[in-house]
Amino acid sequence: MSVKPKVVVVGSINMDMVTKSSRFPKKGETITGVGFDQFPGGKGANQAVAAARLGADVTMIGAVGNDHTGQALLEHLKKEKINTDFINVHQTVSTGMAQITVAEEDNHIIIVPGANHAISKEQIESAVDVIKEADIMLLQLEIPLEMVEYAASVATQFGVKVILNPAPAQELPGELIELCHYITPNETELTELTGETDIIKGTQKLLSASVDAVVVTLGSMGASYRRAKDNENTNIVGIHAEVVDTTGAGDTFNGALAVALAEDSELEKAVPFANAAAALSVTKFGAQSGMPTAQEMLKYKS
Ligand code: ATP
Repeated sequence: MSVKPKVVVVGSINMDMVTKSSRFPKKGETITGVGFDQFPGGKGANQAVAAARLGADVTMIGAVGNDHTGQALLEHLKKEKINTDFINVHQTVSTGMAQITVAEEDNHIIIVPGANHAISKEQIESAVDVIKEADIMLLQLEIPLEMVEYAASVATQFGVKVILNPAPAQELPGELIELCHYITPNETELTELTGETDIIKGTQKLLSASVDAVVVTLGSMGASYRRAKDNENTNIVGIHAEVVDTTGAGDTFNGALAVALAEDSELEKAVPFANAAAALSVTKFGAQSGMPTAQEMLKYKS
């Protein structure tokens, strides 16, 4: 039996609460909506699920509150075969939540980070035995930056490669960027990180800060990557998909990229694999429901 690639995700766990309405309420107004659904979310959890579906042995380090939502999310992650031993259940803060109202072909979103902002250094340290055995660590920016940087420093201390998905978009300290081997912005995030709207200039700027490679996701146009070792830009064209919902496409891309890199693939194979997985994910509603399994991805592996 082949050994599964090992991925550690340190990041956010949220419940997405989606209300559909014919219009948005005015200030102070109460209106009747037309539907309500809850979806497990949070960039960290989404990326962990994407990697686990693709056959990786995934450990998630994160936090939920001691409430029904937190319990439901923990059960969900276990069902996806994710190791939840290092997810803290906090007594004094609520589980992270995204309250989304969809109306008038637009949406309003309020995120309450809750327990996601209570992840601690001690918690990351408690998982050090798992981190040092991992093939790759996957990070995003929905937990405090200090914890992202600390997690990256623990991984690099043990020679574990780090992928940073710099989402949501924000400026980052150079110290954090220097701890990362792969950075995976979309175009907006690349501009936020580098001040450049041009992909060539932006990726070159990030590479000069000791990063092995920058992979830029380009929505329906696919993705591109630039490696430090040859400093060349390579484009991977988008795959035509019958789009139902692009929520979580970036998370599927990152989870799949982590699995391929953990399996020791080079970017020539890993980026097309992630691009194909992400294109499949947009064909279903919800961030996680369209994430493909290893079986569904067999034809994209060479
Ligand atoms: P999101 O925030 O919606 O998760 P993102 O902005 O982080 O997405 P995108 O660049 O929009 O990331 O998409 C990530 C990847 O998903 C793309 O690189 C591509 O592989 C795939 N993808 C996204 N949209 C489409 C589409 N319409 N058709 C095919 N593939 C798509």
